[in-house]
Amino acid sequence: MPITLNLHTPDFDSELGNSADSDNATPLTVVLKVALIPENPHGGEPSRPPSCTDRPTNNRISIGTDWANDLHGRVFRINQWGSSAFQHFRTRFKREVEQAWNKRIFILFPDQTNRNQALNPTDYRSLQNLSLIGRKPPFLRCRLRIDLVPHTTRHHALMHVLNVASGQSCQFQAFVGRRAGGVDEGFLTNQCSARTLAHETGHLLGLDHVNADDPRCRNNRHASICYGETERERRDVMGTGTVVHGGHARRWLEAIRQHTRHQPGWQATHIDPPMDELLRRATQ
Ligand SMILES: [Zn+2]
Repeated sequence: MPITLNLHTPDFDSELGNSADSDNATPLTVVLKVALIPENPHGGEPSRPPSCTDRPTNNRISIGTDWANDLHGRVFRINQWGSSAFQHFRTRFKREVEQAWNKRIFILFPDQTNRNQALNPTDYRSLQNLSLIGRKPPFLRCRLRIDLVPHTTRHHALMHVLNVASGQSCQFQAFVGRRAGGVDEGFLTNQCSARTLAHETGHLLGLDHVNADDPRCRNNRHASICYGETERERRDVMGTGTVVHGGHARRWLEAIRQHTRHQPGWQATHIDPPMDELLRRATQ
């Protein structure tokens, strides 16, 4: 069965490179097609003063004359988007998300000495730099590409973006949820940090919060305990930090299993411990 180089799924697209580089690494790119929608105030008489006090809202975002409330019911002053300001946000979103996720994760090949997981020899060869076979172990370099697309075309995620006025003492809670049809949908603002954009994209990559299995998250997945109990968990991008590691490789693992139609043995890792050490271990 030949290896497929392009695939389209409801959650992501993926491209497998057709040649390995001088490290014997083949690029595996997960592509998220994201529609960013500028959301503007409705205009007219202001009707709700800004307030950082939490109020029950049955988990709905509302947009009004010159305000919007977040999931906590806190009310924020919002402005009309100008076209250059929105273009600037689009550019920043793509740049910062790709910077956070691109080439952070590596996937080591199945162990060819283990009959229960070995890749068929033809595919094993075809995913390598021929001059390096037997000299450098092959691996996949996981890339992420964000394609910004109109919401009228096929997309994996629909993100509404608010232009929150500066000078407010609380932060609008960005979030991503899954719509019934399977497309992710959520809210971002112009004030989201690079860390927040990376975190929300983690949800678009099928990841939940680092401590989501904690029973205290069962009823409220935004409770602060879900973002990590230990310092290590909080440093995770799916906590409150920026660290991306092999545990975040879900979409890339799904991708390589579909490209090769080979399930077992793929092993995701990250750059720390150093790649040399991982590769040495992988070839022992
Ligand atoms: Zn989150």
